[in-house]
Amino acid sequence: MKTKALTVSFNSNGGTGTMDTQTFLYGTEQALIANGFKQIGYLFDGWTTGEDGSGTHYADQAAVTFKPDNDGDTLTLYAKWAPCTEHEWEEGTCKKCGAADPNYQPPGPNDPPLTGDSSSIALYLPLFVISGGALAVAAQKRRTA
Ligand SMILES: [Zn+2]
Repeated sequence: MKTKALTVSFNSNGGTGTMDTQTFLYGTEQALIANGFKQIGYLFDGWTTGEDGSGTHYADQAAVTFKPDNDGDTLTLYAKWAPCTEHEWEEGTCKKCGAADPNYQPPGPNDPPLTGDSSSIALYLPLFVISGGALAVAAQKRRTA
């Protein structure tokens, strides 16, 4: 007699990403495949059998055993999301939830340079060339006069 199997499908429940389904054989313990969904501003908080966070809760990659009544039964697990309340900013993005830091100002080409010397040298150089040329002209005029 064929062992009854149950297919678990994973629902992102508002998150993004894709995940394969996973098959469980009757009475055989197996770890849930790792969560592959994410949602900006939220942290993954395991799976629930109810879309609204109700029902049975499973942790990420929890070892579970199912005993389906019928071969081919299906079960949907919904991702549970908790708002990220303690962002860890790194270059304007939260390392944990991917949210953007509203106060972050990226360093850009329009910012004034911190030491400010390379740009003023670029301004002075043409001035030296121009004044040098004017001196040469003045010296020549003096000679011809
Ligand atoms: Zn965050």
